[in-house]
Amino acid sequence: MDIEATVIGGGIVGCAVAAELAGQGLSTALLEMESGLAHGTTSRNSEVCHGGMYYPTGSLKARFCVEGRHLLKGFCESAGVGYRECGKLIVAVEEAEIPHLERLLALGQANGVEDLRLVDQAEVKKLEPQISAVGGLLSPRTGILDAEGAAKAYARLAASRGAQVMTGARVTELEKIKGGWQVTITPLGENRAEGWTHTSRVVVNAAGLWADGIAAMAGIDVEARQWKLHLTKGNYFAVADAHAGRVSRLIYPVPPASGTSLGVHVCLDLGGQMKLGPDLQKYDHDLREVATGAAGIALDYSVDPDRGDSFFADAKRFLPWLEREDLVPAMSGLRPKLSTTGLVDFVVQRETDSQLEGLVNLMGIESPGLTSGPALAREVGRLVAEMDS
Ligand SMILES: Cc1cc2nc3c(=O)[nH]c(=O)nc-3n(C[C@H](O)[C@H](O)[C@H](O)COP(=O)(O)OP(=O)(O)OC[C@H]3O[C@@H](n4cnc5c(N)ncnc54)[C@H](O)[C@@H]3O)c2cc1C
Repeated sequence: MDIEATVIGGGIVGCAVAAELAGQGLSTALLEMESGLAHGTTSRNSEVCHGGMYYPTGSLKARFCVEGRHLLKGFCESAGVGYRECGKLIVAVEEAEIPHLERLLALGQANGVEDLRLVDQAEVKKLEPQISAVGGLLSPRTGILDAEGAAKAYARLAASRGAQVMTGARVTELEKIKGGWQVTITPLGENRAEGWTHTSRVVVNAAGLWADGIAAMAGIDVEARQWKLHLTKGNYFAVADAHAGRVSRLIYPVPPASGTSLGVHVCLDLGGQMKLGPDLQKYDHDLREVATGAAGIALDYSVDPDRGDSFFADAKRFLPWLEREDLVPAMSGLRPKLSTTGLVDFVVQRETDSQLEGLVNLMGIESPGLTSGPALAREVGRLVAEMDS
């Protein structure tokens, strides 16, 4: 084999996986089709390092979120990547929502989330005087970070451990060969040489929105496995600068019963900019067409300004000072969902069938995928080490 491990996808997960595998001493290639690393979902999200209180106890989301938060915080601090443990408050705007907070507290404690506690109306006022709520659940360990910076720092770590990090390198074919895979890579952009191939003992599919397309390329029936990804857009609206500093923590509502999102919340970035989001909007385009077409990658990240009305209605419940004209369309990201209804766990699967041996698939890595990135990488490292035993 030319190399031992090929990692497809240079988002937070692929970058952390490449660092992990290179750290195990494997000759590793990290392949990213865009012209730069972390241009996909990794740079289009709330940049929250989540506590871990939303997910069923024992699920991969719960485990990797709690473990990943510790790893990511430690990594950011040691690598000089922006990180701030600003904390988060989930607010009940009416008494009827308090039992939801109690349930989240119990779930969080069962999941091992540290320092969670319920706060009453008086304490909410003390902590966040500009918020209107009858009570809250405080998560002091929730943080915010420079997500793109973290992914790039993992890629640098991978490179320092000997990995080849390639951008503009799109995987267009995977062929099973004895003892591994033949990987065909086609460069993006004009005036570039034709594609090339290499052979690799292990292939890790960390292709985010395109992970089902990569699995299909390897010969997996994604429909049969229920791995077809359903994309949903999450839009954000910026809050006028005049309101900067009105809140000092992330402010979330009680999550909608559907389990498909956490509800429109107040995001803060490291520069103190406040935005609201993300909502949930169906995304209709077929990505596999986009990924294999000659036109290259053109995803629709536009934000419909009219959606601001529902943002305003949602947020006005706990931000009494907010006016509709304070909201300006800001950005959007796409979630790779395994189902459009309810909460579905991450898939991290090492293939053992002889037709697929050597392949590890990561599927449905939606939120809390940023937080979980380093823990997912450890898990992949463990699965790859198992291949040798
Ligand atoms: C609106 C929104 C808000 C979110 N908020 C949070 C949050 O606050 N906290 C949190 O923990 N998580 C959050 N998430 C989830 C988090 O952003 C993702 O789980 C995480 O970024 C996924 O990283 P990834 O590396 O799996 O995917 P990506 O970042 O999408 O990376 C995959 C990469 O693979 C590349 N690729 C695809 N196909 C190929 C190919 N054929 N060849 C080569 N490269 C290829 C793509 O170009 C892409 O760069 C949010 C997500 C969304 C959409």
